[in-house]
Amino acid sequence: MTHADAKQPQSLHIAPLGGVGEIGMNMMLFRYGEDYLIVDSGIRFPDTTMTGVEVILPNLSILAAIQDKIRAIILTHGHEDHIGAIRLMAQRLDLRKTPILGTAFTLALLRRRLAEEGLAAEMNLEQIRPGDTADLNPFKATFIRVTHSIPDCVAVCLETPIGRVIHTGDFKIDRNPLDGERFDEDSLRALGDEGIDLLLSDSTNASVPGWTRSEEEVAIGLEEQIAPWKGRVIVSLFSSNLYRIHSLFKIAQRNNRILCLLGRSVHQYVEVGRQTIGLELPKETDLVDVKQLHHVPRHQQLLVCTGSQAEPRSVLARASRGEHRNLSFSEDDLVLMSCRKIPGNERRIHRMINDILRAGATCVFGKQAPIHASGHARQDELKRMLELTRPKCFIPVHGEYSFLVDHANLAKEVGVEQIKIIEDGSVISLSPQGITEIAQEQVEPFFHDGNNLGTSEELCLAEKKRLAWNGVAVVDVTIDPTRGLFLGLNVETRGLFNDEGRLCKEIEDAVGAQMSGQISDMDTEELKRYAAMLVRREFRNRTRRKPVTLVQVQAGK
Ligand SMILES: [Zn+2]
Ligand SMILES: [Zn+2]
Repeated sequence: MTHADAKQPQSLHIAPLGGVGEIGMNMMLFRYGEDYLIVDSGIRFPDTTMTGVEVILPNLSILAAIQDKIRAIILTHGHEDHIGAIRLMAQRLDLRKTPILGTAFTLALLRRRLAEEGLAAEMNLEQIRPGDTADLNPFKATFIRVTHSIPDCVAVCLETPIGRVIHTGDFKIDRNPLDGERFDEDSLRALGDEGIDLLLSDSTNASVPGWTRSEEEVAIGLEEQIAPWKGRVIVSLFSSNLYRIHSLFKIAQRNNRILCLLGRSVHQYVEVGRQTIGLELPKETDLVDVKQLHHVPRHQQLLVCTGSQAEPRSVLARASRGEHRNLSFSEDDLVLMSCRKIPGNERRIHRMINDILRAGATCVFGKQAPIHASGHARQDELKRMLELTRPKCFIPVHGEYSFLVDHANLAKEVGVEQIKIIEDGSVISLSPQGITEIAQEQVEPFFHDGNNLGTSEELCLAEKKRLAWNGVAVVDVTIDPTRGLFLGLNVETRGLFNDEGRLCKEIEDAVGAQMSGQISDMDTEELKRYAAMLVRREFRNRTRRKPVTLVQVQAGK
């Protein structure tokens, strides 16, 4: 063995910092020796229990410690759960020299986000096309066209001194994509022929049998609803799904309707799409502005809007509450919900639908008619991916734990030798012998509250929860410092009760009685702690709540 060989690392490390064992916030870290590579940098949105959090992202301290060694960040596609963290990462890390690789559409979306933060000019964005190979020493990345619910997506094949790894990104196998950009089975099969050591594959729909519906079928389903309708039609969808906006544009043309886009994000995606991809999308002149809508007869209107998940500030949600200046519902409206209900959003979606129905409109959901398709491969497509690539080892990614288990079972069925279910924080080693888990790290996420970025501790998330649940008590203690005498106290609360001060008065009396004569040897800090303890105890005895208690001590006579 030569000296150089002796120094060669014997394994490739793979560590998910997000997106494995959960939905959203995707980030996969690869390490060979002292060199790192990242695939995807996404965000996740908080559930309703997280007070004061706007977005959640992978742990930035881990990345800050290795930032000089990150050879590249590869973005598989433009969904927020894959690119959304980059603009926030740039606040904590120096990413100016790190190449960020993505397709034209993905980078155009990212550039827009970065421009909003004033960062676009500083970053090193490198456009790639399917079929390209990028030399990111010691990694070599080849990009393969895949289909999904947003245009211009790729899978990545990483060639390393240890072996070859395919990361699928998000995909479904749409045999007839509307932009003609076909899922590249041939390249995947060719890579499979050469030998794949490890496959990391999208598990979102691993529990669902069959094959996902194509966008072409969705277009037919939408037209079946829209063509016979005599009044106005409103379609709500995920605004990044430009295939569907393309279909609606064509349907409008065929049915003598004119398209109106409502919502900032729909406009943004269409504009970026028009500049970067070969899918026919409406130009400004093909559209009617919402303010001019009243000039168009209602049976010629086709509205496309955001709000499929009843996001409170979205067009559809505001209109359902009667808060949108240009849109309200009436009996000749057909509302098509061209989406699925993301778990966690069901209740607010139902509330919104109730309001829309109450106004007399008709509403059809993705479940009732073929007007929606998932962007993620179901079991038969996942098997197809496994059969094309024929990996030696397999790790299911992008999904909750139960989806990972179902995906692992599929891999077992098709005969993959080594299968491992992991979660965020696992560190996997790939060597010529296969995969083993070598460590479990803490990968606490970071949070952004709209203004500040930090850990749960830095943003006081636990305290925010306590404040929301228990309220605050502000206590003023007055003493005579020269004689060490307690003179009195005043208690006020926020977020607890409104009883015209009766409870506070009771607490003042009870605590006052315990404090007189007790404080002569205490310094100010001891006194504050003592008063806080007494106040919290009295509140707990009476209300079973312990408010966050702030004590001030002042001198009096
Ligand atoms: Zn996606
Ligand atoms: Zn995703």
